[in-house]
Amino acid sequence: MTPRDFQWATGEVWRDHFLKSLARCRRLRQALAMPFSEGAFESTVPAALFSLRGRRALITGAGQGIGLMLARGLGMAGAEVVLNDKEPARLGEAVARLRREGLAVEGCVFDVTDEKTIAIGLASLARGEFEVGGGIDILINNAGIHQRAPLELMSTAAWQAVLDVNLTSAFLVTRGVVAGMLQRGSGKIINICSLNSEISRPTIANYAAAKGGLKMLTRAMAVEWGGRNVQTNGIAPGYLRTEMTDVLTVDPVWERLICARTPAGRWGEPRELIGAAVFLASRGADFVNGQIITVDGGLLAAL
Ligand code: NAD
Repeated sequence: MTPRDFQWATGEVWRDHFLKSLARCRRLRQALAMPFSEGAFESTVPAALFSLRGRRALITGAGQGIGLMLARGLGMAGAEVVLNDKEPARLGEAVARLRREGLAVEGCVFDVTDEKTIAIGLASLARGEFEVGGGIDILINNAGIHQRAPLELMSTAAWQAVLDVNLTSAFLVTRGVVAGMLQRGSGKIINICSLNSEISRPTIANYAAAKGGLKMLTRAMAVEWGGRNVQTNGIAPGYLRTEMTDVLTVDPVWERLICARTPAGRWGEPRELIGAAVFLASRGADFVNGQIITVDGGLLAAL
């Protein structure tokens, strides 16, 4: 009998295995409980890496659709979430719904195109008038609209409105929030871009121009603030079922066209953006900056 056989026979090897597993479990438990500490091995355990516990997020246009779903996703990942919308009733309903689900959320009404109401809304957050108040660690610029028309017939008002809500708003709201991030030396900004940041189709020139601009604004922000530990990235959703795309989903021709063009063979759901958003908002993305993650079931890759 070799010394190893002897150890097996006397159970020493099993005891050794047991003690090592116990130590691993203890390290894991501590990692999940402890706040992130830079460089610590435990902080790379996925549950800790992607946890948003102790962070505050502001999501614009979150009264319905993608914004509401991202509020739910970030809330479930542990963040306190401030939902913004310009429609008070819609926002109130969204907040009440997420609270019923047990999430720590608050509503803040302002129009993302209006500097004055943005300033008032952000000031009320800073003063802590809200249960979920104080500094914003994560900002998702999500509010967006469509006003479709053939380009040769498009009114100046439709052009301007779409640029204001989809592009200029990200500049205005971020400018109001980023000062605190720079002061604290950390922050995450996520701009909701689109497939139309890359490709267009007839009747949406205003939207494509705005979302293309938002992609470049994302890179500009990344370059501007990356050296001060504020990362800016974008998410480009493909075709998802929301109120915004109602006009397309009720049209059987479009419905079929999108399914045929998308390698996944179907439309996406807003919840399918949660993974990308939680990742980009988390410490797991501390070295990811200026990127656009496309979540489109493969459409952009297909001919
Ligand atoms: P949606 O129309 O369902 O919701 C948009 C929300 O933004 C609404 O609650 C609306 O009240 C709010 N809003 C509009 N203008 C505002 C303003 N000036 N100030 C504050 N809030 C305002 O839209 P959605 O489908 O959830 O889209 C959300 C974002 O995702 C948009 O930026 C959109 O361009 C983008 N996107 C959507 C799709 C899709 O397939 N649904 C695809 C690509 C990109």
